[in-house]
Amino acid sequence: MDLLKEAKAIEPEIIKTRREIHAHPELAYHEEATAKLVADRLKAMGIEVKTKVGGTGVLGTLKGKGTGKVVALRADMDALPLDEMAEVSFKSNVKGVMHACGHDTHVAMLLGTARLLANHKNELDGTVKFLFQPAEEHGGRGGAKPMIEDGVMKNPKVDYVFGLHIDGDEESGVLAYRGGPIMASPDTFKIRITGKGGHGSAPHQTVDPVYVAAQLVIAVQGVSGRMIDPIQPFVISIGAVHSGTKENIIPDEAVLDGTIRTLDEPTRKKAKEKVMEVAKGVAKAFGATAEVEFLEDAYPVTVNDEKVTEEASKILKQLSGAKVKVRNQLLGGEDFSRFLLEAPGSFYFLGTKNASKGCIYPNHSSRFMVDEDVLKLGAASLALLAVEFTKQKS
Ligand SMILES: [Zn+2]
Ligand SMILES: [Zn+2]
Repeated sequence: MDLLKEAKAIEPEIIKTRREIHAHPELAYHEEATAKLVADRLKAMGIEVKTKVGGTGVLGTLKGKGTGKVVALRADMDALPLDEMAEVSFKSNVKGVMHACGHDTHVAMLLGTARLLANHKNELDGTVKFLFQPAEEHGGRGGAKPMIEDGVMKNPKVDYVFGLHIDGDEESGVLAYRGGPIMASPDTFKIRITGKGGHGSAPHQTVDPVYVAAQLVIAVQGVSGRMIDPIQPFVISIGAVHSGTKENIIPDEAVLDGTIRTLDEPTRKKAKEKVMEVAKGVAKAFGATAEVEFLEDAYPVTVNDEKVTEEASKILKQLSGAKVKVRNQLLGGEDFSRFLLEAPGSFYFLGTKNASKGCIYPNHSSRFMVDEDVLKLGAASLALLAVEFTKQKS
């Protein structure tokens, strides 16, 4: 079977589906219309469907003729809270909501994959599970976790899991993979600094939390620069500073919101401890107190199985004309990481940057655009991985 050739034949259907979803984006945990579209399409292909999995998730199960391995393929369905600025004919119809991370393309590609595999049902050695997941962008609980709690990785037990993400930073048509840690654990924290308010003309009578907050914004960078092994990727950013109402009032409190990104558990643990120590220490030095709170349930580091990834890269190279290369690590987070804790697998990327079509903006930009010519390749790549990995002998 030539899956890329077959994907080319259904390319108009994949693009049409993608545009339909793009025009009607839904935020995390509210993917009702998208889930309905997915369920209807899968049923029409003769695939067994379970809806309302982990909230708005959809599970499709395609049993082949053999008793081979069980392969799960995942697409996330949620959009982002921003106004679309991209000039496309199928622009978002929903104010303040846009598919700016390409999850619309993930759904359309995986439906394309389902079509390709359903057409080859009798040649399939094992079972393929299609995981259409809610709320990847939500952080914390996300959408993978509730789907796992609802049992998608069991009965039958998943042997391998794969996920594909559209990548606005990579050239169009490039498939990029990497074994080991590929994406970060995004730990969110809040530092609440309590001082003592008063008149701006008499700071000596107060404990100024704004001053302490300013010191802290600088000081926490010392965790990154002075306390963590510089060989380990690590970043700390404070994205929000809240305090005060008027120029001559020293407030009682200041709040900082930040994120820490790490690619391994020991660095993660140490970074969190050090941020706490520095915040408390700096606040104390100026007579204030700092409470540091980390969001529980942050996404784990996304760790691709080395062996499976290497095997997958060889399989992807069979796609004629595909440019397959090793990807750099990145410090974004992904709750696909949670599926990887349940079964070995790989999360890989499909480049969509194409200057001649104006596809030059990164994921999460209000001007993000996808080179739709790559979607057939994405659909074919997932189908090929499913065909080959259902055949694996353990
Ligand atoms: Zn995103
Ligand atoms: Zn995404």
